[in-house]
Amino acid sequence: MADVLFKKISFIGIGLIGSSLARVIRRDGLAKEVVACARTEETRKKALDLNLVDNVTDNIALAVKDAELVILCTPIGAYEAVTKNMSGSLKPGAIVSDVGSVKRAVIEAVAKNIPKGVHFVPCHPIAGTENSGPDAGFDTLFEDRWMIITPVKGTDETAIERVAELWRRTGSNIEYMDPDHHDQVLAITSHVPHLIAYTIVGTATDLEERLRSEVIKFAAGGFRDFTRIAASDPIMWRDIFLNNKDAVLEMLGRLTEDLGGLQRAIRNGDGDSLQSLFVRTREIRRSVIEAGQHIPPKPPNGA
Ligand code: NAP
Repeated sequence: MADVLFKKISFIGIGLIGSSLARVIRRDGLAKEVVACARTEETRKKALDLNLVDNVTDNIALAVKDAELVILCTPIGAYEAVTKNMSGSLKPGAIVSDVGSVKRAVIEAVAKNIPKGVHFVPCHPIAGTENSGPDAGFDTLFEDRWMIITPVKGTDETAIERVAELWRRTGSNIEYMDPDHHDQVLAITSHVPHLIAYTIVGTATDLEERLRSEVIKFAAGGFRDFTRIAASDPIMWRDIFLNNKDAVLEMLGRLTEDLGGLQRAIRNGDGDSLQSLFVRTREIRRSVIEAGQHIPPKPPNGA
């Protein structure tokens, strides 16, 4: 029998992340009614055709009316405007949550638009792919992945627990974190690696024609993995770097220093330094495997 956790859930934005969560909600009957708000007719039509939701609209106020849970699933740069537009239409006791990849800036942009009597529970699922849109989602995306909740001081514990339970149903493990700590951890585990991929692929693109065609031909040498990461959504990643500026710049500073050290070791023929770093990094890979975080998410259709 279906185990309804919320009467009405509204998605604001229904791309990869929103549609993956909506698939779990529909599959397991976790809400009586699911509604999505999207800007484009194409996205709204897809959400309906894929039976992700009962209703679609481009009107944010209408989408959140009577909702027990509203989940922001747009790029984070849109959060401030979106929450301003919904503010007067949220019902008392409703919960607003999100899935944004940065937490401090999101809390600053959203919390001021949350009326008294409505609860805000900031979240970030540590799961994703380089694909976008409602048809890119799949219901196993969050299985055995972490969901980080960064509660705002004073938030109703029941509201936090209701959101946590929804994510547990996706197969996620819940971790609670301070928002600034979240932003630092994600800067080094996700944001800087993406920036490096964008840089390497960008540099390769700027090579003269003769070299560039060889780069594509021999991509399997390591370049291939960077091209996958660098194919991630441009708007989403623009917003992440604009909103996690301090932590990303701090980690980039450290990285630049370490790169300088590696440059010196190569120039000086210092094989011991190179080898000792590579031994340490190999250990890290082993730890990632032991933690079960080494398997990339696989859409069922292999898309
Ligand atoms: P996506 O597939 O590109 O979907 C974005 C959705 O937001 C679409 O439904 C889009 O509707 C809507 N949207 C875009 N711009 C908007 C705007 N200015 N105003 C209102 N709606 C707008 O994105 P996603 O990958 O699901 O990412 C969504 C959020 O999840 C982001 O905040 C991101 O930081 C976070 N996140 C992503 C990943 C990942 O790997 N992708 C992982 C964890 C967290 P239209 O199509 O109609 O424009």
